[in-house]
Amino acid sequence: MNRTDLIIIGAGPGGYRAAEYAAKQGLKVVVFEEGEVGGTCLNVGCIPTKTYVHSATFAEARQRLAEVVPQLRQGVEGILSHPNITLIRGKACFADATTVCSVCGDTIGAENIIIATGSETKWLPIAGKDNPRVVDSTELLRLDSLPRRLAIIGAGVIGMEFASIFNRFGSEVTVIEYLKECLPALDSDIAKRLRKTLEKRGINFKMKTAVKDIADIDADVVLMATGRKPRTEGLNLEAAGITLAANGTIPVDDNFQIVNRQSLYAIGDVNGRQMLAHAAEMQAVRAVNHILHRQDGIRFDIMPAAIFTSPEAACVGPTEDQLKEQGIANECRKSFWRANGKALAMGQTEGMLKLFVSSSEQTPGLILGCHAFGAHAADIVQEVSVLMCKHTTIAELSDMVHIHPTLSEILKPPFV
Ligand SMILES: Cc1cc2nc3c(=O)[nH]c(=O)nc-3n(C[C@H](O)[C@H](O)[C@H](O)COP(=O)(O)OP(=O)(O)OC[C@H]3O[C@@H](n4cnc5c(N)ncnc54)[C@H](O)[C@@H]3O)c2cc1C
Repeated sequence: MNRTDLIIIGAGPGGYRAAEYAAKQGLKVVVFEEGEVGGTCLNVGCIPTKTYVHSATFAEARQRLAEVVPQLRQGVEGILSHPNITLIRGKACFADATTVCSVCGDTIGAENIIIATGSETKWLPIAGKDNPRVVDSTELLRLDSLPRRLAIIGAGVIGMEFASIFNRFGSEVTVIEYLKECLPALDSDIAKRLRKTLEKRGINFKMKTAVKDIADIDADVVLMATGRKPRTEGLNLEAAGITLAANGTIPVDDNFQIVNRQSLYAIGDVNGRQMLAHAAEMQAVRAVNHILHRQDGIRFDIMPAAIFTSPEAACVGPTEDQLKEQGIANECRKSFWRANGKALAMGQTEGMLKLFVSSSEQTPGLILGCHAFGAHAADIVQEVSVLMCKHTTIAELSDMVHIHPTLSEILKPPFV
């Protein structure tokens, strides 16, 4: 049996970033990948959907997808061609806590193993879900003709992004959601305003509606966008002594080490903590640092996220409701795209930003979070995220110069 320093199962953003970083630090790494390198994000997630967001028509999106994805995949293959990395193509499973086998017959032993197998679509167990007109996000991206009527079950991030994309392409889009509001991780005020904006653009929303049977849905294609679940099937986790949590995730500590399993780590979607590509990448860095006995200052509690609807939405830190529930004294400062020169010049005046600022005696003026929707909201929230990492107060933000005319001036006081 061959031995190496580190085995990584999965070459998505978590897996390939862990491999790249560990290899550069001198570790010998073996990566197992059963599909295409780049994982969900590059092949059927972030990159394909954002290529669709930035294409004018469905036909153009299909064509650009065929160019963008292979180009980026080549980049990841380049990363994995580092002399310290061996890529084994094939499904991997545990033989025991220190040994991994592939379906092709390779057996490798290692001191440390990182599981980075990502997630897959969670299907609602409803009547008619096996009907061929019901698809998940991966299958929707593979359609070669534009559906005339698209129904989307679920108003989470994936559902809302596809609703916005296919509405722009000209499909008649209906979103059906069980909850009262879309995008539960977003401040409810912002989420409502975004939904109303998309409604004005022609998307039909059926909120507080439970789908019981696909036969009740009048559409050519039905997208199941009801969440994702960790991908652990076939890994033979029992052989490594790993027990899944009740929700199917692999339980980990703050170094992404599997609870009670020294030298075994789980990063990215498979641990269910923050199902985002950039979270997976930073978890990879933390896990490798832990293997190398190094400290880092990564702030996993400050995790910005974006929803690439048109206009887009983004957030960092708690919502107003969460601050209230946690009893954190705060003031909410608001600003609007319609009051920003660049937004007016761009003709993209829909949007609102809420900045939450501490009003407690211990941390007066400290920036606690920001939720926004509007053109390029993600870039603006990214700035707030940096400010939060640096413990910035609203008074310090007021002293910072912002280029004129830019959307970043939305963060320039006076706020409403
Ligand atoms: C439609 C869609 C849009 C998204 N958009 C965004 C976005 O805009 N921004 C964002 O931050 N996130 C987005 N995400 C989420 C993002 O894709 C994931 O958070 C990210 O890919 C997780 O990375 P990962 O490395 O944990 O897993 P993955 O990217 O899922 O990679 C896991 C890899 O492991 C491989 N694998 C699994 N099991 C085995 C095995 N037994 N043996 C060998 N290989 C195995 C898989 O083939 C896969 O390549 C989106 C997701 C979807 C579905």
